[in-house]
Amino acid sequence: MAEKKSKYKLKIINLCCPVEESMDLHAVLVSCFGLNKEDIVDLTILRRSTDARKNSLFFVYTLVINVFITKSDADELLENKNIEKLFERSKRLINKIARLKNRPIVIGCGPAGIFAAITLVERGVAPIVVERGERVIDRVKSVDKFMNFGELNPESNMFYGEGGAGTFSDGKLTTRMKSVLKDRVLREFIDAGAEKDIAYISRPHLGTDSLRKIIPNIVEKLVLKGVDFLFNTNVQNIIIEQGRVKGVVADNGLIKTENIFLATGHSSVEIYDLLNNKGVLLEPKGFAVGFRIEHPREFIDSRQHGKFSGNKFLGAAEYYLAYKDKKTGKGVYSFCMCPGGYVVGCSSLNDALCTNGMSKFARDSDFSNAAIVVSISPDDLEGDEPLKGFSFIHKLEKYAYELGGYNFCVPVQNAVDFINSNVTENLIRETSYRPGVKCSDLNYFFDDRIASILKRGLKDFNNKILGFIDEGILFGVETRTSSPVRIVRDKIHCNALGIEGLFPVGEGSGYAGGIMSCAVDGIKAAEVFC
Ligand SMILES: Cc1cc2nc3c(=O)[nH]c(=O)nc-3n(C[C@H](O)[C@H](O)[C@H](O)COP(=O)(O)OP(=O)(O)OC[C@H]3O[C@@H](n4cnc5c(N)ncnc54)[C@H](O)[C@@H]3O)c2cc1C
Repeated sequence: MAEKKSKYKLKIINLCCPVEESMDLHAVLVSCFGLNKEDIVDLTILRRSTDARKNSLFFVYTLVINVFITKSDADELLENKNIEKLFERSKRLINKIARLKNRPIVIGCGPAGIFAAITLVERGVAPIVVERGERVIDRVKSVDKFMNFGELNPESNMFYGEGGAGTFSDGKLTTRMKSVLKDRVLREFIDAGAEKDIAYISRPHLGTDSLRKIIPNIVEKLVLKGVDFLFNTNVQNIIIEQGRVKGVVADNGLIKTENIFLATGHSSVEIYDLLNNKGVLLEPKGFAVGFRIEHPREFIDSRQHGKFSGNKFLGAAEYYLAYKDKKTGKGVYSFCMCPGGYVVGCSSLNDALCTNGMSKFARDSDFSNAAIVVSISPDDLEGDEPLKGFSFIHKLEKYAYELGGYNFCVPVQNAVDFINSNVTENLIRETSYRPGVKCSDLNYFFDDRIASILKRGLKDFNNKILGFIDEGILFGVETRTSSPVRIVRDKIHCNALGIEGLFPVGEGSGYAGGIMSCAVDGIKAAEVFC
């Protein structure tokens, strides 16, 4: 008697296929693994990366399929180390919500706050989201004023407003964290208008142009589900009595609540001051500082993609560079690379400036940039104060503002001049930065120790990408790689240690960094709460 077939959910990794416009993956599965085409119930691409290392160009897929096969065929397939059997996850139960006295409040409308709100409303409670900055439609005007005329709106800028710090970014969705929740974040972005292939390509990005549409779409969907958004509303105080949250004081007065999702990012230093003064446990953590470097896009493309440079399947080339300094044990690495992007200035304070990177979905500007940073540990800084990292960062950003000419122009130096400690008279080329640049000596940003580690790192990168120094222009100063402080959380309940009802999430909590990991952190905390 023929053996009975049952449904198996299988994950297949490292499936190499030649690069083609429309690849029939069902046919590939039939020919590689002997499956019957009609037995494949569905096929989902989890990931697609591009392999250009050999003489030909390949797509490398990770797939999940539901397929009807016999047990002996399944056993045979599972001997292949690239195939794994998956089990269905059981759904979690909704509880607690019915007992809530007041609606939870989410402070901050960045990725962490938005995804906490999505999760809460999915589980039956519509929170109030309070955000100090403007909606995207107005925020774009504030950011344009900053970029064109150096006029800062301290309440609504590159850091603050609908979508948080990521709205004016490259929108990279890469993260080293492993979590099944990443798929949920991607699905939400796709439902709100992102390209469908972000669900499976290996290094997905959205670009600032799509983010400016996607984020308002998500917000509007949440409004329809009952979430209230208070934009242009700054939270100035959090009421905590006997270790329990009681409410927030915002521009428009007191809002009572017993539960706050604190998703304020790591630019809002006032919030840390507030928590510190209220005795919430904060601890300093490691972060990284340095410069941003910009090259012509064509230069990076040709160095990274060689003969495939310009191939439409590859797009603008990325790089990730890392160097371990033998003398000091410190790491220098590239961070937040923006291929085909722009170097941008960021500030929420009238006397400070730092750099970052942004690009459009097409990544088609003439430049590619990345941060080049050195790791800083709390021991590198004097004192025991939990907020000492912010004092260090603010000093650097203030210096950048002064060196740039007090008008949000950015101090710059040819990388080769920085290495040789020479003053740059003329830049080797124009840059992508607005409102303008000012030739300066970036050697004075850091003490000799940090400056020389950065130089050794740059020299190492120059061996990996020939011409990296000669073709590079440095911009001062990169400070916002991750928060220099952590709001210590209870490991199980995710609340700030000893404070019932206060859930620090996202980058500002010190437990996440970047759009994807902050979004996942927001989901996780809301799930634990529900
Ligand atoms: C220019 C730029 C480019 C970037 N590029 C990328 C990238 O390509 N990929 C990536 O993964 N990450 C990128 N990042 C980092 C990423 O944007 C952040 O890690 C992420 O946005 C953090 O999410 P969050 O929700 O924790 O906080 P944020 O996004 O910082 O959001 C916090 C929100 O809280 C609000 N807020 C703060 N204080 C108050 C208050 N007192 N009252 C009310 N509201 C308040 C702020 O206005 C803000 O909107 C970039 C950042 C910048 C600035």
